[in-house]
Amino acid sequence: MLYIGNHTTSSKGYEKMARQMIANGGNTFAFFTRNPRGGKAKEINETDIEKFLALAKENHFGKIVAHAPYTLNACAAKENLRDFARETMADDLKRMEYTPGNYYNFHPGSHVGQGAEIGIHKIAEILNEVLTDGQTTTVLLETMAGKGSEVGRNFQEIQEILALVDKKEKMGVCLDTCHVWDGGYDIVHDLDGVLEEFDRIIGLEKLKAVHLNDSMNGLGSHKDRHAKIGEGQIGLDALVRVVCHPALQGLPFILETPNDDEGWTREIRLLRESAADFVL
Ligand code: FE
Ligand code: FE
Ligand code: ZN
Repeated sequence: MLYIGNHTTSSKGYEKMARQMIANGGNTFAFFTRNPRGGKAKEINETDIEKFLALAKENHFGKIVAHAPYTLNACAAKENLRDFARETMADDLKRMEYTPGNYYNFHPGSHVGQGAEIGIHKIAEILNEVLTDGQTTTVLLETMAGKGSEVGRNFQEIQEILALVDKKEKMGVCLDTCHVWDGGYDIVHDLDGVLEEFDRIIGLEKLKAVHLNDSMNGLGSHKDRHAKIGEGQIGLDALVRVVCHPALQGLPFILETPNDDEGWTREIRLLRESAADFVL
């Protein structure tokens, strides 16, 4: 089963998001748990949740991948910003339990000059404060492009964070194709090699979701500018190989391409057709 969908920009509740995704040809999706720039989350509406859960079941949805706000920085230098990260994550994780067993993805953070090592420790510290034994949600660290002082710029940094987290079974990784390409991993010419490296350093069993994006920039550019599928430097063929890679079967593939619903519908169709035609 190929689980593919897009990061929906609508924030009108779970049922609406699922209906839009079905219209787009998708069977998973991503969404911001609250305004991407932070702020208060909407009240959970239990009727909306029930309708969503029924729709997702009926349409054989894969796991959905919630995204924490961009402004969340678990390794900020200022403690008040880390408090915001703490409170937001704890609150989001509580809300995620209304839709049990899904994924909560976040950007590890930016160390803002403190150095990656301090950043890594601060991120793990917050994870150790917010993860609970009872949660059914898996928290995903997103692989980053290495723009500015981003932490998680390579597999080692992700692994170092994971190693410091106590409740390891609650953690996973989301691989963003644009970010790893911009970070210097050549998924165009050596996808097998990149995944072998991921396996050696982190372990492929930790890979839970993929952000499927083309990139406006070249290998190792550390830029993080997403392009539409087939319109960037990664290209359609390489992205189809990602979707079809034996090691990645069953994972949710989330498009975060600069599109509207019409564009995402086209991309989902294109990727489904290309995957169906794909021969190893
Ligand atoms: Fe992201
Ligand atoms: Fe992403
Ligand atoms: Zn990005």
